[in-house]
Amino acid sequence: MFRTGRVLLIYTGGTIGMGLNPKTNALEPLDFNHLVTQMPEFAAVPVGVDVHQFPEPIDSSDMAPPLWARIVEILVGHYDRYDGFVILHGTDTMAFTASALSFMLQNLTKPVILTGSQLPINQLRTDGKENLITSIEIAAAFRPDGTPRVPEVCIYFSGKLLRGNRATKINSEGFNAFDSFNLPPLAEAGVNIIYHDDLILRPDFTSPMTPHFAMDSSVVVFTLFPGIQEETVRYLLTSSHLRGIVMRTYGSGNAPQLPWLMQLLNEAYARGIIIVNITQCAAGPVQMARYSGGFLLKNAGVISGYDSTVECAIAKLMHLLAHSTDADFIRRQMNRPLCGEITVHE
Ligand code: ASP
Repeated sequence: MFRTGRVLLIYTGGTIGMGLNPKTNALEPLDFNHLVTQMPEFAAVPVGVDVHQFPEPIDSSDMAPPLWARIVEILVGHYDRYDGFVILHGTDTMAFTASALSFMLQNLTKPVILTGSQLPINQLRTDGKENLITSIEIAAAFRPDGTPRVPEVCIYFSGKLLRGNRATKINSEGFNAFDSFNLPPLAEAGVNIIYHDDLILRPDFTSPMTPHFAMDSSVVVFTLFPGIQEETVRYLLTSSHLRGIVMRTYGSGNAPQLPWLMQLLNEAYARGIIIVNITQCAAGPVQMARYSGGFLLKNAGVISGYDSTVECAIAKLMHLLAHSTDADFIRRQMNRPLCGEITVHE
C-alpha cells in the first residue's frame, strides 16, 4: 500500500524566498509567509505540510556550524511527528550543509531533502515551484512495505535527486545548479519520479537516529598550483590551531615532488594533523599509488579522500575532529564510508 505523509518544511533562506531591496536593488531573504502568498499551488500539494522558519532567514553564504546544529535541533524536535523533511536553503552552501547533516544525523531513517532555486519564487520564470513541490513529494514517498522511499540527506534540484554528501554546486546561472559526478542520481523527476532504489541507502529502521551537534572548524581547504611557495605552505601547516586539511591535488591525487613540501607534510602528520587528498578534478577518484607524486604524498602521511567532494571531505573532517582526539582513529574513519559519501574498493 502506498500512502502520502506529513512533511515539515524548514525555511532557512536563500534565493527561493528572496525579494529585491528597493534601496540597494540587491536580493535579500524575506519572511516565509511572503513566499507562500506568492505561491497558491502550495495549498494544493496533496501532502500535509507544516512550516518552521528561521527567525532571521539568511543568504546561505552566512551558513555556519552553529546553524547546522540549529537545523539538527529542529529535526530532532519534530522527528517523530513527521514522515519527512524539506529544507529550503540557498544554493551557495547547500552542498556543505547537506554533507554536514549526513554526518550529524547518524542512522537517519527519514528523508531530509534540501532544495532552493536560482530565481526567487515570485518571478515568472522561477524554478522554485517545481523544486519545492517535487521535494515535498519525495519527502513524503514510501515503499510498498511502509518504510520511507529515500531515508537519506539529499539535494533535489532541476529534476535530479542527488545524495547530499555527493553533490556539488556546478552552475551559478543555469537551473541545473547541482551535480554529483561520482554517483548517479538517486531519482529523476520527469513526467514520473523514477527512483533508483538500488542506490538508495537502507538504514537500520529498528534503531533510533542519533543526532550529533558538534563540529570542529579547525580545518582548511588548500589547493595546489604550479609555483606554490614554501613560505606560504609552511605558514599554513604550522598554524597553531590547525587540526585537519583538505588538500586539493592534481588528477588522481598528484603533487609536485618537492622535498620541502613532503617534509612539511610529514611534520604536520607527526603533529597529528589529518591531511586528506582530494582531486581538483570534478569526477573520478584519488589513486595515490598510480604516479610517484601521489606515492610520495602517501609516504608523507597524507590519506586518500577517494572520490569525495571537497564539501563532503571538509564536513566529515569537522564532524570527526569534534568527536575524537585520536588522529589514527580519525584517519581510519576518513577512509571508510560512514553514510555513502565515498566509494572504497577493498
Ligand atoms: N546567495 C544565495 C544563497 O545561497 C544563492 C541561492 O540561493 O541560490 O543563499
